[in-house]
Amino acid sequence: MGSASPPLSSPLKVCKFGGTSLADAAQIAKAAAIVRDDPTRRVVVPSAPGKRDSVDAKITDRLYQCHSTAALGDSIDRVFQPVRDRFTQIAGGLGLADTHWLDAALDDIQETITDEAAAGRDADYAASRGEYLNGRLLAALLDRPFIDAADVVRFTGAGRLDADATYAAVKQAVEATPGQAAVIPGFYGSDPDGQIKTFSRGGSDITGAIVARALHAAVYENWTDVSGLLMTDPRIVDAPATIALLTYRELRELSYMGATVLHPEAVFPVREAGIPVHIRNTNAPHDDGTVIVASPDASSRNASGLPITGIAGRKDFTVIALEKALMNNEVGYGEKVLGVLRRANISFEHMPSGIDTMSLVVADTELEGKLDDVVEDLKREVEPDTIEVDPDLALVATVGRNMKTQPGMAARLFGALGQAGVNIRMIDQGSSELNIIVGVNADDFEAAVRAIYKAFVG
Ligand code: ASP
Repeated sequence: MGSASPPLSSPLKVCKFGGTSLADAAQIAKAAAIVRDDPTRRVVVPSAPGKRDSVDAKITDRLYQCHSTAALGDSIDRVFQPVRDRFTQIAGGLGLADTHWLDAALDDIQETITDEAAAGRDADYAASRGEYLNGRLLAALLDRPFIDAADVVRFTGAGRLDADATYAAVKQAVEATPGQAAVIPGFYGSDPDGQIKTFSRGGSDITGAIVARALHAAVYENWTDVSGLLMTDPRIVDAPATIALLTYRELRELSYMGATVLHPEAVFPVREAGIPVHIRNTNAPHDDGTVIVASPDASSRNASGLPITGIAGRKDFTVIALEKALMNNEVGYGEKVLGVLRRANISFEHMPSGIDTMSLVVADTELEGKLDDVVEDLKREVEPDTIEVDPDLALVATVGRNMKTQPGMAARLFGALGQAGVNIRMIDQGSSELNIIVGVNADDFEAAVRAIYKAFVG
């Protein structure tokens, strides 16, 4: 890319701060201190102010509410007031000398939200303003340049990210800002008509990943309110260990089963480019956090030495068990069974089978309102000798790249479950050996997670 600007000094970091990390002036001051602390923190990507406590509302939610109120033709004075108050309070708390621009920006935003809704436009402009204003406040506090995401994050007319155009625009804009930290707000960009477009909820993670990719960052720091990913749910196991390092594939397995830390779409840009993501805690910046890498040797950090990386799980699955004598001789049986699911637009999780049996493990949300029809269709289609529906299954996934080729892992896991008196209703281990999934009664779910944790971690 033939830019005349000086090359970006390397290695650089891109840091994204989440909503709780920027919820009020005190939190924003912590984020600014973190940015100032390391001159290689080259770009800062803020979210909108999040919840200050469990009963608070996120600014983004309030902005969506402003749009829907305006779309009904009502005045948004009342619903916009808390947004106005929050930003005014933040600016005051940060002791910024000049805040006239903020009052003007808030007036302009209130008016534009009303006009956009009246013109029948979607809520994206309104929703994006939390990130926009937080970005401007952070830039003012740091005394660093503000790059509007509308100018660099490009969406196509169809509303999809135009990745190549975005990478080029981000690189060029950042190169034009000398020195440390420039601020690019998360969550939004614009389409070819100049209309604001947002990613899906939680999308500032995606902006951070795209910016990291555009600048070939050495690391994408994702600052949040926890010190990384825990090995399992702390509501089940008391004070579980933090995962020091895991791979993107392990993250996918764990988050699919319930552990959330990063927007799933944020993984792709950085994963492709081999950029590690470092999950860190704004409230405890010296904690190690969790590093997510493409392959373990991409980082110099030592792995924990534990055979497993984490344990995740979900309740609310149903098993539909089919039995038919000589099923194994019947060519196309499985296809017919899956055809029934396809016609009902149901996706299944697992399909364990025996000689004359085949079971479908399906999430209850998929079956809602469809179960009776599916059972009838299966009876008609494959004429089973018996068909049984067993609800209340929970799945527990034990994930770990270190389990690969290590004998005795399954024995340890099943032994622990046996000792805890947990009956295993289903077992699934893919040949990737990255995880072992067991199905247990929903009532045994917590006991199963605790037993596995104890067996592998202590
Ligand atoms: N503020 C947006 C949301 O609440 C995006 C983000 O925080 O990542 O979804």
